[in-house]
Amino acid sequence: MPGFAIGVDLGGTNLRVAVVDDSGKLLEKLTTGTEVGRGRDRVITEMCSDIQRLVGNFRTAGTLYGIGIGMPGIIDMRTGFLHESPNLPGWDNYPVRDDIENRLGTRVVLENDANAAGLGEKWLGAGRDFDDICMFTLGTGVGGGIVLNGRIWHGMTGMAGELGHYTVEPEGRPCGCGNHGCLEQYASATAIVKIAREAATSGNAPELARAIVENPEFSSKIVYQMALQGNEHAREIFRGMGRALGIVVGATINALNLPMFVIGGGVASAWEMFAPAMFEEVKVRSFVYRATAPKQTGQIERDATLITRALLGSDAGLYGAARLPMLLAELAVRAESKERKRA
Ligand SMILES: [Zn+2]
Repeated sequence: MPGFAIGVDLGGTNLRVAVVDDSGKLLEKLTTGTEVGRGRDRVITEMCSDIQRLVGNFRTAGTLYGIGIGMPGIIDMRTGFLHESPNLPGWDNYPVRDDIENRLGTRVVLENDANAAGLGEKWLGAGRDFDDICMFTLGTGVGGGIVLNGRIWHGMTGMAGELGHYTVEPEGRPCGCGNHGCLEQYASATAIVKIAREAATSGNAPELARAIVENPEFSSKIVYQMALQGNEHAREIFRGMGRALGIVVGATINALNLPMFVIGGGVASAWEMFAPAMFEEVKVRSFVYRATAPKQTGQIERDATLITRALLGSDAGLYGAARLPMLLAELAVRAESKERKRA
């Protein structure tokens, strides 16, 4: 009988819950808004009722491995506490995992959302033919996920992979994490909007200023469309973003020498606008990259460092979250057979 797991992607705006089977097929997905403003308890109650509904729908479909939940913030993997999450105010230092496990009576695995996205891309996306990948997720913020030997690299307490908070400008823009000049302040959707607004205010970018006035919901997507249409100011914003990203990708290549670096998240759709500047910067900053660059950019070659776009779009985190309890189950089976051999 096949098995399945529930994957949850809990963001500051959307709550998505999906049933995924062990071959990676998405069987059903529920998407609702996260009403963060109505408080933690309300969000957890709604999440649990979505999960229970889906578990009920698939009760006879196979074994339930458990529930995997990707959420923003730094999570202590040993205690299941969320330590800090700017997108989920009021959740700090709360035993999130235990609360949800008690309500559902099923095994729950919590994971940082960018780590979950990295695992998703490794399982079914751009990294599926590699054991080791590093993923950058460029969204509202910038997240990172390092997957080694098919498993998320957690570090000591589960907080590893915070690649969005690499410093790219020592005296740069203040960041929510307390540092100045973090990558997140230059390469996230939020940063692109902020930088575009500043350019508009400076008086040097009249088209951007007009676009801001005309679009009450001015977004990084609009900056991207303007860049596509050839607007030089919009293009410069993406070049700057590419340079900042290239600094960090280069540093990470030097540190880890992995075969694959995946760029995902909503802002990655602007790939053709930032990738040339990113590659230029990576070549300058990373001698490990220069020594291992593929002969043709984007090609899979033996012993080459590939920097490529993610393939699963916004579902990467959902697939990765569902994969978490499956990996735990695989580990348990392996430990059991080892134990049996010994006996
Ligand atoms: Zn930061």
